Amino acid sequence: MKVGLIGLGNMGSAIALNLIKAGHKVSVWNRSRDKADALLQAGATWAASPAEAGEAEVVLSMLADDTALQAVVFGAADPQGNPLPGTLQSKAPALHLSLSTISIELADRLAQSHAEAGRGFVSAPVFGRPAAAQAAKLFIAAAGNPAHLALCEPLFDAISQRVFTIGERPSMANVVKLSGNFMIMAAVEAMAEAMTLCEKSGVAKSTLFDVLTNTLFNAPVYKTYGEILVQGRYRPAGFAAPLGLKDMTLVSSAAQRSGTPMPVLGVVRDHLIETIACEGEDIDWSGVGITVAKHAGL
Ligand code: NAP
Repeated sequence: MKVGLIGLGNMGSAIALNLIKAGHKVSVWNRSRDKADALLQAGATWAASPAEAGEAEVVLSMLADDTALQAVVFGAADPQGNPLPGTLQSKAPALHLSLSTISIELADRLAQSHAEAGRGFVSAPVFGRPAAAQAAKLFIAAAGNPAHLALCEPLFDAISQRVFTIGERPSMANVVKLSGNFMIMAAVEAMAEAMTLCEKSGVAKSTLFDVLTNTLFNAPVYKTYGEILVQGRYRPAGFAAPLGLKDMTLVSSAAQRSGTPMPVLGVVRDHLIETIACEGEDIDWSGVGITVAKHAGL
């Protein structure tokens, strides 16, 4: 299939490579062009703008946040001030497959703008860190028109191990994704607090990890993040803390709009803010483990 891919960060680069490996014809665009070098060598072609990447059957986007996605869809200016047309300005009416973690409001707005332009929009945020993206083992929560979802199937096959269809309104997938990221962060916070309690009481945190992940907490999220907490392996970031804070802020706005009190959210959000302020923006979001331990005098 002829596809465009916009956004070659930690996740997008790995996804692009898997699309190429699966035999798709991939055209890529990224704000910083140097990140495309390895993919161009692997067989991708360079698109001069998001609109050019959109000259395809499906254009995928994997970008940091709402601001980035709006710039590539509606158009922006390059660093020299030249216009950079967005995907909605492409001649071919490509279906837009949005993989980024974005707000529910933006997903609704994009669904409407694409419908008004006679184009399809599918929201399919992913679960899994860059290692899972490299191994084509992502989990995808997808929502959109069933015919549009069917068109995306070969692409999902190339990048993921399982797709969950959430519904027909694209933003429903973003509700699931944001809820999931809140649950991950809450699990990290709970583990960090319990490990700190153990350490202060003379039990190694690796012992707690060993007992719990082999019994009641035998789940990927506890295993992956528990290991990072035990080893203190917070750099290089697989998922940078500022992106985690972006997600907790999106959860907070969704909670406010729907009238859902989420007291635990306030704790993890503040710990992320403190971790970024004290440790810098290059730390993984699980670096809240440092903040929790510090509060206990460790
Ligand atoms: P990343 O490595 O920081 O990459 C971010 C991408 O967004 C880069 O391509 C960056 O371009 C682009 N970008 C940022 N601001 C832009 C703007 N104003 N205009 C155009 N492009 C812009 O992030 P990532 O880890 O790949 O994450 C991408 C998305 O996946 C995020 O929504 C994240 O929440 C989600 N996600 C991440 C993970 C994970 O573990 N990493 C897991 C699941 C979901 P430059 O290269 O020019 O900076």
